[in-house]
Amino acid sequence: AAKREGKSRAKRFDPVLADDMADRYDLEQGLRDAIKGDQFRLVFQPIIDARTGACTAFEALLRWNHPVRGAVSPATFIPVAEQSGQIERIGRWVLEEACRAATGWPDPSIAVTVNISVSHVLVGSLLDDVEHALAVSGLPPSRLKIEITETMFLHDADRSAPLFDRLRQMGVGILLDDFGTGFSSLSFLGNLPIDVIKIDQSFVRDAGRNGYATIEAILSIARALGLQVTAEGVETPEQNRNLVERGVGSVQGYLFSRPIPAAGVTDWLRMTGRVPDRPFDPAA
Ligand code: C2E
Ligand code: MG
Ligand code: MG
Ligand code: MG
Repeated sequence: AAKREGKSRAKRFDPVLADDMADRYDLEQGLRDAIKGDQFRLVFQPIIDARTGACTAFEALLRWNHPVRGAVSPATFIPVAEQSGQIERIGRWVLEEACRAATGWPDPSIAVTVNISVSHVLVGSLLDDVEHALAVSGLPPSRLKIEITETMFLHDADRSAPLFDRLRQMGVGILLDDFGTGFSSLSFLGNLPIDVIKIDQSFVRDAGRNGYATIEAILSIARALGLQVTAEGVETPEQNRNLVERGVGSVQGYLFSRPIPAAGVTDWLRMTGRVPDRPFDPAA
């Protein structure tokens, strides 16, 4: 009897599930107006050369200020954008805005990295979207890098690999984000059209517990394959020291800076002096 009761209950109106669905629908609708309502902003987090301490790039991270809910995390709204067919349009906005912002930075050697969703790549317009963003902003291709995740290569690798090859021929770098959290067979890694792997912050967080063994293993593979390595989520001087000692090429995390609003980037560079070796001329 209890079983039958459970079964019939599942068919009845479930207020929790309905709440979730209403929530999702609400976010989905909200996203439709976010661009024209001027509700999106990019913030920029520095990526630091471990050897020199200079900032070599900023990662563009999307922020949504919902008119009623206030700040909504990208971890919440990006999946909704992907599943409701809106990520292509949003990704185009991010690419253009990020390239524009980078043209205004005081040092012309600092690159910008942009996170791109698998679903954006799969719809097929990414190459056009990148070319358009570079053309309208005037940013040289060598200053743009695309961050993708391992899951990219689970879907349709035959179609996506030539696309990333083409971007690299143009001079646009490809970074493999959140490395280690996906399926990644290591034999596979050698054939990917990428330049840099970003070790996921969970490995950095847990490294102390295993004496940095996992990080060392990733570094030796990367070295063998000629890939550069960036570590994400560096929060303490001790983590930084351990990573740099072991040969991580770049570091990123709250230790250096939280993501910065676009208008604050130039001041941050000036205040920290973390500029590449050329003479820093704020008037340039
Ligand atoms: P991600 O690309 O791996 O970005 C790193 C995330 O870690 C960012 O969260 C960043 O603010 C945070 N973070 C940076 N340093 C530290 C640290 O030291 N400690 C900790 N605990 N966290 C740190 P955010 O900005 O909330 O973004 C979350 C994810 O949302 C990103 O992960 C990325 O996958 C996605 N995302 C953000 N912006 C975009 C976008 O424009 N397009 C797409 N497709 N995805 C985006
Ligand atoms: Mg990223
Ligand atoms: Mg990441
Ligand atoms: Mg992530």
